[in-house]
Amino acid sequence: MAVKPITIGLTGGIGSGKSTAAKILGELGAPVIDADKVGHAIYQPGAPAYQDLIGAFGEGILAPDRTIDRRKLGPIVFADPAALRRLNSIVHPKMFTRMGEMVAALRRGGEARPIVIEAAILIEANWQPLFDEIWLVTASREHVIERVERDRGMKPAQTEARLRAQLSDEERRKFATAVIRNDGTLDELRAAVTGLWHGALARAG
Ligand code: ADP
Repeated sequence: MAVKPITIGLTGGIGSGKSTAAKILGELGAPVIDADKVGHAIYQPGAPAYQDLIGAFGEGILAPDRTIDRRKLGPIVFADPAALRRLNSIVHPKMFTRMGEMVAALRRGGEARPIVIEAAILIEANWQPLFDEIWLVTASREHVIERVERDRGMKPAQTEARLRAQLSDEERRKFATAVIRNDGTLDELRAAVTGLWHGALARAG
């Protein structure tokens, strides 16, 4: 049977259950790439974003060992929407390129299974072209607030503010090829993710 390599983007808002879904997919045998880790890697000296970020924001963002200190960059961009856009315009395309290279390297190594990239900002960053399928994890506002307070100690007001600052699920749904509604138990999430994964395996031949 012909093999159609599939790349799946897994996205969703804060506390929706993306990381949990990604972990389940990993347990099912999916190769999983974490976009956050790719983001961290491209800030390293010698990596693609390093010089551009110093060029844009100055040497003041460096720690004494000349690595980029996110605690110095954070206040610059969070106080200034234009600076944040500039940061994103440097970092997001480089993350896109790097993730594409990682997928290509896995394929060259013979990986035929669907490859999953967990990316909270997939749609905000316009990474849709990297993916054959986009799976969106959603959970009700009440579940999100309760779960992140229980598991991360985040106060409801803080979670509400994060939710307001993000893209809405309505916006995300426009790009989703599948929606995983995570409003039940963890076993129900596992069952939904397992079903989708078996479907993807079948589509990949
Ligand atoms: P995200 O990666 O989207 O921010 P997580 O996967 O970290 O979300 O989930 C947020 C928290 O909610 C985690 O502590 C996770 O263990 C918990 N969680 C996720 N799904 C469920 C569920 N169906 N029932 C109970 N807790 C859940």
